[in-house]
Amino acid sequence: MSRTFPLDKIRNIGIIAHIDAGKTTATEMILHHAGRTYKVGRVDEGTAVMDWMDQERERGITISAAATTCQWHGHCINIIDTPGHVDFTAEVERSLRVLDGGVVIFDGVAGVEAQSEAVWRQADKYGVARICFVNKMDRLGANYDRTVAMISDRLRSKALPVQLPIGSEKQFRGVIDLIEGRVVLFEEGSGSGSSEEGSEALLARQRQEMIESLAELDDQIMIAYLDGQEISASEIRAAIRRLTIAGRIVPVLCGSALRDRGIQLLLDAIVDYLPSPVDTPPVVGTNPRTGEEVRRLTGDDEPFSALAFKTVSDPFMGRLVYLRVYSGRMRAGAQVLNSTTEKKERLGKLYVMHADHREEVALSEAGTIVATLGLKTTSTGDTLCEPARPVLFEPIHFAEPVLAMAVEPKSKADQDKLDDTLSKLAVEDPTFKIYHDQETGQTLISGMGELHLEVLMERIFREYGVRVNAGKPQVAYKGTITVPVESEGRFVRQSGGRGQYGHVWLRIEPGERGSGFEFREQLKGGTIPREFVPSVETGVKSVLQSGGLSGYPVVDVKVTLYDGSFHEVDSSDVAFRMAASMAMRDGLAKAKPIILEPVMEMEILTPDQFTGDIIGDLNSRRSRIEGIESRDDSSTIRSLVPLGETFGFAGDMRSLSQGRASHTMQFHHYEELPQSLVEQVVARTGRSR
Ligand code: GDP
Repeated sequence: MSRTFPLDKIRNIGIIAHIDAGKTTATEMILHHAGRTYKVGRVDEGTAVMDWMDQERERGITISAAATTCQWHGHCINIIDTPGHVDFTAEVERSLRVLDGGVVIFDGVAGVEAQSEAVWRQADKYGVARICFVNKMDRLGANYDRTVAMISDRLRSKALPVQLPIGSEKQFRGVIDLIEGRVVLFEEGSGSGSSEEGSEALLARQRQEMIESLAELDDQIMIAYLDGQEISASEIRAAIRRLTIAGRIVPVLCGSALRDRGIQLLLDAIVDYLPSPVDTPPVVGTNPRTGEEVRRLTGDDEPFSALAFKTVSDPFMGRLVYLRVYSGRMRAGAQVLNSTTEKKERLGKLYVMHADHREEVALSEAGTIVATLGLKTTSTGDTLCEPARPVLFEPIHFAEPVLAMAVEPKSKADQDKLDDTLSKLAVEDPTFKIYHDQETGQTLISGMGELHLEVLMERIFREYGVRVNAGKPQVAYKGTITVPVESEGRFVRQSGGRGQYGHVWLRIEPGERGSGFEFREQLKGGTIPREFVPSVETGVKSVLQSGGLSGYPVVDVKVTLYDGSFHEVDSSDVAFRMAASMAMRDGLAKAKPIILEPVMEMEILTPDQFTGDIIGDLNSRRSRIEGIESRDDSSTIRSLVPLGETFGFAGDMRSLSQGRASHTMQFHHYEELPQSLVEQVVARTGRSR
């Protein structure tokens, strides 16, 4: 059976941008030209089709990664929406993981902003090939050359402008296409327009410069150049494609999404320069049975393999799971193996998602993106594969939540729905966690930042109709230990009838920062039957949830079960679970526990005259200034600030700078809370253990 689209005609791309750079508007325009959207939504009117959720429309920001498909000149372009706000890092990570290429949109006035830098580094990590689009060329103060220079300097990438703007601001009316050596004037639609005065000479000079840059990097162009041959547009495009896919250059284009200028040329560039699924290396996983490395080539004849990269619980349809299919085909209704959970699953109906409707398809094909209904146990980051040919891909890495907030249902009816709603949201979003405090009876939710929690609160109300009161956001501290200890736990009950007998010795050691939790078993033959080991692990884990100082969750510990004893009749899973949690609780208390606090990376952009005052304010917040960069009368201050010290910062900075400074913040790492503050934190949480 032939494919809907040959593999080399597929582009799985993301549109990556700092908030407000114009990602939604550009996506709308792309769908307008290449998709099946009939009416172009305008962000400002709140009708954009990519923004599915109500509050996204109101805020004008795109939060959830909806995958949308469209077609351009015989190619299938799957757009995986990627949010611009760093609070939604899970969304960014998961979409980058499954993309082959990205279009990075910059605001031509603001240039490269802090968040674009953060996402750029993430894209480097995943080896995502990129092209850049300098948007808003119609705005006052737009500066193409400066933005190109910033891409080279701040993002340390070889930016290759393949277009030059003709006119700027209100006069922005076309581009010089350096590859074809033509002038494109937007008023006359695309195609060769008439030459501007003086532009011929400029064009010839710039084109020559571009070819020289390419010759330095590409042997084929170098040879032709040295031979003095005429280099054709298609040769240049082929070289740019090779170098872009290799991550050695980023072609730069420009336009105005709002005025629909340059979008068709952008679509051409997506097709011309960004990789198809066959241009990227084979995906590597392991065989879950043998632990051997397994490679899957992109192809329909390979065994089926896919990664679930997004789960949405649609209040009407149920659970929709988005899959990036790496290899093989699979029919709707077929049985597959979830190699992450080791459970068999049945694929339900399969859909290709368009911005405004779903299209049911019979088959998922290699290299594409499908959404499926009916998977029960599959969540974000899981691998699905052919049961007979198992493969397990590396799970998607998600950051730990740093901010927590108590939530309380407003009524009994809300109470009943709250738990269910929260767990649905947690399945969708791995950086959203729920925790029930046994002692206080409170429900705590945690996430990546204030905006993240705020959006979740709105969804709880709007999508699920649950009304809740929320407490003040609090820092999500964590506990860990500093010295290794050995700890014994005995759970023995003998009261007539069948007794209880569980007895363990655990070695509890500090792990590396960020290592989470590790459990090992090193029992000498027969001390404890193997069947009880999982119960010991469960018992240990139950303490980790809240066993740190002041009841915080414990991280970065290694626990080894190395000794113990059992009773032929009385030993049970429950008894070993109890024994393990007793050993763990005692051990943690003896292992010199400390509290860890999240430290944020903060970047502040301020006019120079306020730099001193802002640094003074930062110094009062236990921050470390990492660097100050000055450019055009303004400074960028980079610093590391403990999250607990950042509350109220936005307001203070506003008054210090008369509202002219702006800042961005994202999680950087966890570090030890100074001893002098531990007491305060313990007192504030009102608990001590
Ligand atoms: P996103 O946050 O990156 O998705 O950005 P949006 O697409 O929501 O755009 C942010 C704002 O910039 C909106 O008010 C848009 O109308 C406006 N905008 C987007 N593209 C352009 C453009 O090319 N020129 C101008 N002048 N404004 C634009």
